Amino acid sequence: MHHTETSKQKLSSAGEVQLTAEQHPLIGSIGEVSAILESLQSNRLFVVIDKPAYHASGADAVLEPLFLQRTTTWFTNFELNPKLVDVQRGVEAYRDCQPDFMIALGGGTAIDLAKLIGSIAVQAESARDIATGRATIEVPGKPLMAIPTTAGTGSEATHFAVVYVDGKKYSVAHPSLLPRYAIVDSTLTASLPKRMTAATGLDALCQAIESIWAVGATEESLEYASEAARLAFGNVVIATNSPTPASRDAMCRAAHLAGKAINITKTTAPHALSYALTSRHGVPHGMAVAITLAPMLAFNAGVTDQDCTDPRGAAAVRDRIAGILDVLGTDNVEDACASIKNLLQKIDCPTTLEAVGVKTSDELQTIVDSVNVERLSNNPRRASQNQLLHLLRNTIP
Ligand SMILES: [Zn+2]
Repeated sequence: MHHTETSKQKLSSAGEVQLTAEQHPLIGSIGEVSAILESLQSNRLFVVIDKPAYHASGADAVLEPLFLQRTTTWFTNFELNPKLVDVQRGVEAYRDCQPDFMIALGGGTAIDLAKLIGSIAVQAESARDIATGRATIEVPGKPLMAIPTTAGTGSEATHFAVVYVDGKKYSVAHPSLLPRYAIVDSTLTASLPKRMTAATGLDALCQAIESIWAVGATEESLEYASEAARLAFGNVVIATNSPTPASRDAMCRAAHLAGKAINITKTTAPHALSYALTSRHGVPHGMAVAITLAPMLAFNAGVTDQDCTDPRGAAAVRDRIAGILDVLGTDNVEDACASIKNLLQKIDCPTTLEAVGVKTSDELQTIVDSVNVERLSNNPRRASQNQLLHLLRNTIP
């Protein structure tokens, strides 16, 4: 649990906060939800909840009485990975009940859906147009409290949300999408199944590492990302294979800090490459990202001034990559890649594209064709389609 003195102070000034992308959600533990709702005098709730996670996390015991005391509209039946149809259904339900506060509980899907529903419901433009970037968010939605029950996405700390439209992945970004409150409480992750702990923990690790080498990296983001990478690398195997309260707690902190880091920097090549692996090959998000982490680390470590996309130059990128190697406990790239591969194997994450069903050149080409150009431009070393193909072919033995 992360109930610190500063979080207490932050919570007590909750009422007057005007959020921008640079600001942060107010952090509390599950026991504080009641006081927050009281202080806001919130009586009409719209809750986006992953039902299995609601019960498995034990959040039901705390939240159920609070929901019963208020007019609460539930939105619960949605698929894994946010889809436009679910956003559209949610927007209709939201408009019918006109809530004064929103709560999202679950993994990244529930939190991203809540961000999109709460925001799109108060815009004039259609959900489809906003999701696909043809229209923009103009007015902020009602405040949102995000309660993650996985330690991975960090969505509670970011101002963007992923949505799939006709199988294609989009990211909607707006400062007002940043949740007002984040309940980061590791007790909620105590019963998280092994495979989900692994996949979500890898998302946190990759987000942290990508954030360190990202073109968008700042001094502030580096602080969050370095700490997140250290915590995730040091704890994801224990949290997956023999979880302890301390390792669960460390992973929750890692995920939240990685979220704060990518809220500033956004992600890079491994994320850009991952979305087709998830939508076409059914690979859980964090694992889909992790598969290309080591090859991209090796690639980015070879950055030169000729192919560097960071205006600060190749030496500055190499400095940050040295910081990543340090977290991985080595000073050479080959060992670092071996160490990532070893970690993936320990938690049963596939380490090759072949292992997740990408077997032919055509299939590989489809993955590379699907890459989001904007995310790729945030990678510190320019990568042509051919370079990506070559790089990824090496992961197919
Ligand atoms: Zn991610």
